[in-house]
Amino acid sequence: MPTCTALIVAAGRGSRFGGPLPKQYALLGTQPVLRHTLAALRVVPGIDQLRVVIAAGDEGHYQVAAEGYDLPPPILGGPSRQLSVLNGLEALASEAPDLVAIHDAARPFVRAADIAACLEAVTAHGVDGAVLGIPLADTLKRVTSSNAISETVRRDNLWRAQTPQIFRFEPLLRAHRDAAALGATEATALTDDAAVAERAGLKVVMVAGSGDNTKITTAEDLQRATTMETRTAFGFDVHGFTSGAAVMLGGVSIPHIQALGGHSDADVGLHALTDAILGTIGAGDIGLHFPPSDPQWRGVSSDRFLKHALGLLAERGGRVIHLDLTLICEAPRIGPHREAMVDSIARIAGIGRNRVSVKATTTEGLGFTGRREGIAAQAVATVEVPRS
Ligand code: MG
Repeated sequence: MPTCTALIVAAGRGSRFGGPLPKQYALLGTQPVLRHTLAALRVVPGIDQLRVVIAAGDEGHYQVAAEGYDLPPPILGGPSRQLSVLNGLEALASEAPDLVAIHDAARPFVRAADIAACLEAVTAHGVDGAVLGIPLADTLKRVTSSNAISETVRRDNLWRAQTPQIFRFEPLLRAHRDAAALGATEATALTDDAAVAERAGLKVVMVAGSGDNTKITTAEDLQRATTMETRTAFGFDVHGFTSGAAVMLGGVSIPHIQALGGHSDADVGLHALTDAILGTIGAGDIGLHFPPSDPQWRGVSSDRFLKHALGLLAERGGRVIHLDLTLICEAPRIGPHREAMVDSIARIAGIGRNRVSVKATTTEGLGFTGRREGIAAQAVATVEVPRS
């Protein structure tokens, strides 16, 4: 079995991606793109070692992405992708693996079986390299500077090249050393490692891979690649009546012959909604985040609690799909205030009114709500969060 090191190129700055982080460190679901890529490669039989080429200054981002994977130190890249790969190859020169599999950090969906097929192809007699790719399905047009079509390019025998691109190590290192001596114009034409190898006269073959092995280039790609899952959770709360002239329900003050007593402004509706949101992300309950014993929450407006829970959801990349609140009491009458509550909850949650439901019921005079001792609230939150 030949030895093979995977060289993962993560040194790009991602000018097309925008955002505060280079795309390879942006979160795909709950983890950096690079971590997904490392996870995909480390389980491939035939790959003995992973090495990552990073840009100087990205060490902190790299540590987060590679935490717990026990990799050798990252290799610092150069001013271009080609020179970054050369730095990586030079760093491997002393151990000289039989094969090197060069892979884009921004291709986290590569399949182990496709890499295995590529590894098998490169070990065939007379082959120096094998590249994962897919035959072109779209029709190709060459256009003028004003986008007028000048030619339809026959797509016979045309492929799109992906990564990994796997090569015999020594000939590829020599090819990259030669290419490094080229002028800038000639060098920019070498857009992948296969081009460097072809220029050196090496024999490189294409291996059919999968359309799933896409490269994350834009923020939109990242969003499209994030698989979301739907979660639903329940919240329940009760507050007892005390003396006063109004109750807070769903963030709306409703005149009444009594007030609700207890934690904060005692908005039983927003408390139930807060617990429901916390439930969707397994983040405990309202009492854990805002202990009733803590005097700082006395009298405070309960939209703070709901916003806190929504903030935790947003931190996890989640969003609310629907909120459903049921208030259980004999009085005050909820109907006249229903629309105001829907508005209030929609505003606090930053969602459309069509995603909020407020219902009311009585217990037909039975139990503590029937005896007008207090108000109970039930809430169901439906959210979408990145699958992790
Ligand atoms: Mg409460």
